Amino acid sequence: MDLEKIDVFSNPGNPVVIAGPCSAESEEQVMSVASELSHNGVTLFRAGVWKPRTRPGCFEGIGKEALPWLQRVKSELSMSVATEVATPEHVELALAAGIDLLWIGARTTANPFAVQDIADALRGVDIPVLVKNPVNPDIELWIGALERLFNSGVKKLGVIHRGFSSYGEKFFRNAPQWQLPIELRRRMPQLPIICDPSHIAGKRELIMLLSQQAMDLNFDGLMIETHCNPVCALSDARQQVTPDELMMILSKIVHRSAYNTATDFSTYRKQIDSIDEDIMKLLVKRMEISREIGEVKREKGLTVFQPFRYNETMKRCAEWGMDGKLDPDAIRAIFEAIHSESIRQQLSIVNEEI
Ligand code: PEP
Ligand code: MN
Repeated sequence: MDLEKIDVFSNPGNPVVIAGPCSAESEEQVMSVASELSHNGVTLFRAGVWKPRTRPGCFEGIGKEALPWLQRVKSELSMSVATEVATPEHVELALAAGIDLLWIGARTTANPFAVQDIADALRGVDIPVLVKNPVNPDIELWIGALERLFNSGVKKLGVIHRGFSSYGEKFFRNAPQWQLPIELRRRMPQLPIICDPSHIAGKRELIMLLSQQAMDLNFDGLMIETHCNPVCALSDARQQVTPDELMMILSKIVHRSAYNTATDFSTYRKQIDSIDEDIMKLLVKRMEISREIGEVKREKGLTVFQPFRYNETMKRCAEWGMDGKLDPDAIRAIFEAIHSESIRQQLSIVNEEI
């Protein structure tokens, strides 16, 4: 994909900062948060005009009546303004209002029909579009949305990583699953990646940590929901910060450099490479043994998966994680992968004749 630079992102050497409320609620709310942000040097303002809500009956955004408020932010404060679009009608209204930057929300990215409709509405229009990750951790769906827009001629593309939803009790509102944006960066190195710690966190206390982590992973910027009176916000009240808190977060972030020619890691990296090779050799050996067990299971008519054995392995993983040297979740993930490869190999042995 031959992408063009997003002009409003040109902030050489500094991460892009997009801030503003989850939703535009009133003209006064929009103007007060925008002017505080602008006085603090923020140049990109976000506000949701149409809000995709999981359940009906919540505040679904003011709708097109809020667009003139964003126009005021643009003309009176010289900020660039961004909003979410989910339908061709939203696109048409946002373009007519002179919105500078559009984003596609996580629920919309997950729906190829909706993304195609938006892409069709944007054909021939030169406006930057940021695509939030789909709610589910599917990198192909995320890239598919980018391709649909690109095929319609949208060349100024970027993405927003806002985490992935899951079932049950959870620490994050949307788990970061950093491996997805990292893989996206590997596949599309020229694509700007913005992190939205607000929607990952779901609570303001975690925004600092997530912002720092995003910067440590070389993200190009941050989108942070900001409201003058977060507790009274009509949507996402738990995760919004005040403009002062935002400035505090931004000032505390430590910026580390991705490239430093003065530091030579080659000795360490050689050691790591050789350890990786040892790990691979051991894994191959482990799989050989596992295949031998597979043959015995076939002869004796035993099932491949033996739950008590798997439980034992997983129990050992938890014990290994107890000294705190490795994260127990990471150990579990490694052994789940090893175990599932082992099962795959045994299944092919047991079913050799099929
Ligand atoms: C938002 O940015 O306010 C929003 C609704 O985001 P998401 O699509 O990530 O849920
Ligand atoms: Mn929100």
